[in-house]
Amino acid sequence: MIAKSLFTFLAASTALFAQANADWHREFPAFKIAGNLYYVGTADLAVYLINTPQGNILINSDFKEDVPTIKKSIASLGFKYSDTKIILISHAHGDHDEATGVIKADTGAKLEVMSEDVADEESSGRGRPGAKVDRVLHDGDTVELGGSKWVAHLTPGHTKGCTTWTSQIQEGGRNLNVVIVGSPNVNAGYYLVDNKKYPGIAEDYVKTFQVLNSLPCDIFLGAHGAYFGMKEKYEKFKAGDKNAFIDPAGYKAYIGEREKTFRDEWERQKKNPGSPKQ
Ligand SMILES: [Zn+2]
Repeated sequence: MIAKSLFTFLAASTALFAQANADWHREFPAFKIAGNLYYVGTADLAVYLINTPQGNILINSDFKEDVPTIKKSIASLGFKYSDTKIILISHAHGDHDEATGVIKADTGAKLEVMSEDVADEESSGRGRPGAKVDRVLHDGDTVELGGSKWVAHLTPGHTKGCTTWTSQIQEGGRNLNVVIVGSPNVNAGYYLVDNKKYPGIAEDYVKTFQVLNSLPCDIFLGAHGAYFGMKEKYEKFKAGDKNAFIDPAGYKAYIGEREKTFRDEWERQKKNPGSPKQ
């Protein structure tokens, strides 16, 4: 029994650490994506800054240890960290939200979170931010500040309140549809069949892919830089390609590939009940 518990613990720990990579806490140059949308995250953990005349919105906070990097990135663009008015998240996992409480305390910003992730956001459990949510969001709600408007799409599965953010941004006389994918990924340890803590998880992923497939997308972004090939696109951008982040075909290909991966895993688990993804 002890051996089994230890094994379970080790398996869970391995699964957690397997997802970490060296880019998580590595600095990355801040840059303008398009219009009033900027990248201020690390080399993989995306943080987006939306600059408006009434202050800034931040999407994601990363881990607590990444806050100095985010502050440096914001300052390097000539913006003020203290002008942060609203904090949003992709979903309630530590790599995207652990520091929301820190940023709230530093800046007085309002934290707005999808209802199904609120309990995890406010939890003070291990790795949880313990941050009070100021506004509870529901599917289709909008967040507006200084003329910018972002739409919260519930894309559940990865977490119950996983959120994909969309907006329209003006750049070079064009109206561009921006999509920030919350997460379409089935993590190691996720039970898609007979999940006691999250009944209906697989059906939620199915819904999520319907939503993601329906969204118009010019600028393809996500909670991790790796989702949309940020490093490669940034190199192109730096070399003078101002349209490097405009990638509707890349978006469709990514969502298609992720949906197939999910469906293959779901089929595998249906045939092997009680064996979550490794
Ligand atoms: Zn996650």
